[in-house]
Amino acid sequence: MTSIQTKSDGASLNNLSLIAAHSHITGLGLDDHLQPKDCAQGMVGQLKARKATGVILKMIQNGKIAGRAILFAGPPSTGKTAIAMGLSQSLGTDVPFTAIAASEVFSKDISKTEALTQAFRKSIGIKIKEETELIEGEVVEIQIDRSLTGGHKHGKLTIRTTDMETIYELGNKMIDELTKEKVIAGDVISIDKSNGKVTKLGRSYARARDYDAMGPDTKFVSCPEGELQTRKEVVHTVSLHEIDVINSRQQGFLALFSGDTGEIRPEVRDQINTKVAEWKEEGKAEIVPGVLFIDEVHMLDIECFSYINRALEDDFSPIVIMATNRGISKTRGTNYMSPHGLPLDLLDRTIIIKTDPYSEDDIAKILGIRSQEEEVEMTPDGLRLLTKIGMETSLRYAANLISVSYQISRKRRAPAVDIEDIKRSYMLFLDSARSVEFLQENSDSYIDDQGNVNLANEVATEQMDTS
Ligand code: ATP
Repeated sequence: MTSIQTKSDGASLNNLSLIAAHSHITGLGLDDHLQPKDCAQGMVGQLKARKATGVILKMIQNGKIAGRAILFAGPPSTGKTAIAMGLSQSLGTDVPFTAIAASEVFSKDISKTEALTQAFRKSIGIKIKEETELIEGEVVEIQIDRSLTGGHKHGKLTIRTTDMETIYELGNKMIDELTKEKVIAGDVISIDKSNGKVTKLGRSYARARDYDAMGPDTKFVSCPEGELQTRKEVVHTVSLHEIDVINSRQQGFLALFSGDTGEIRPEVRDQINTKVAEWKEEGKAEIVPGVLFIDEVHMLDIECFSYINRALEDDFSPIVIMATNRGISKTRGTNYMSPHGLPLDLLDRTIIIKTDPYSEDDIAKILGIRSQEEEVEMTPDGLRLLTKIGMETSLRYAANLISVSYQISRKRRAPAVDIEDIKRSYMLFLDSARSVEFLQENSDSYIDDQGNVNLANEVATEQMDTS
């Protein structure tokens, strides 16, 4: 590998996967002094944990916390994942944030350490400064000729500055790019010559009267002056993992789209690390440590934990945020009991943020927000009953009843979900406590741990054998 590529042909890569259950959360709900508001940005209560996360947010923004580990520990449904999602939203898109569930590490295709390495490297951003050649001007005319089948296209783009006007021949790729960006005459655009990426800068003031081409938030800009072709310093941020994949000969950047990157050879990573360190020395690149969030971290085993311990000491280390609802439990792969199922050496370097069970008022607010988010109209009585169910079972169970109750209410053509819909969905779907109760009462109808079957099952098995 002589030169290292950092561009994936204009592909937009954002590894933050939106998790539907947390779609109502748009930030940590803090004020300017990082104090948590009681209810803001979809976040309710859990004030201490949110305040502590606000401190972490500030440290990440100041670049002061790479290589540290944080653990959200608390009972189920107390908002650990929700707060991590709030943190990711507050960080914005410039800081890489990778969220994985620990169980994802155990895959058939790649080893656990490779899966963790990829997750770690996805969480390190490299801000690269590059000089690039751009064509910047106001579009005078776009003319596209399509072949009869539509497969082949060619065309011409006339573009101008206040001082000059030029016509460029367009190929298939450029035509697709201009069509995708919905570029029309009168738009001021910029074309990156290295990858053909088109960016719409705004509408030219000269065309301010073409009402047809304007939306309510149309941005107006002046027609550029001088030469059409300019050189500009541009900064783009890619993750270390993206650089790995683009430069890995077996993979290529297409793997970034499928997500199927397979194992990446250690030599590729070594060369990239050396190169990135050089760029950093020369001032061409800046390292942005991001966040790796590992949910249900107790599902990892001792080998994974020791990998994390080591990786946190690496030069390129993100901040690792973990979440667990386990108390004192066995660390997987050992016979040792430890707090939260984490080995003591990792726990020792971890700062712990505790989440507490919610008050009735908080549960009512969260369920109200979730109903709004799911566009479900609910009567105050319905919400009161749902809150009671949430207190007695779990917040997650009660939240799940929202959409079920809505379906039931629609059947009776009701304008809003009411007590009777919630009662019916509560009867139809068991929460975990009632399921346990049912299992205890009917234990002999199920297959147990030793594979013993009850009488009824034996009869069924015998019948199958003889048939
Ligand atoms: P587990 O230990 O079971 O994984 P958890 O602590 O990660 O649970 P979440 O998944 O964050 O719990 O919370 C359950 C649901 O309640 C989610 O839909 C979440 O968005 C919502 N929720 C939890 N806490 C809050 C909060 N403080 N404000 C708003 N919504 C919340």
